[in-house]
Amino acid sequence: MKFKVCPQCGSENIEWIIPQNWSQWSCNDCSYTGLVIEVDKETQKEIQKQWKETGRIISSKDDEEDD
Ligand SMILES: [Zn+2]
Repeated sequence: MKFKVCPQCGSENIEWIIPQNWSQWSCNDCSYTGLVIEVDKETQKEIQKQWKETGRIISSKDDEEDD
């Protein structure tokens, strides 16, 4: 059985923040926003393991400032 998790840290602690936009989710554990993925328990464990080992955001190092 698959369920939605944060692709970055593997957390299920995610929220659908914009009802009009299905692709915008927010993770309460790592502050990720964007698409979530559907995984099974094993894949989730892999993501969580990776996240613990690297502990960093893969996509971008640069901070974007919103004015
Ligand atoms: Zn996360």
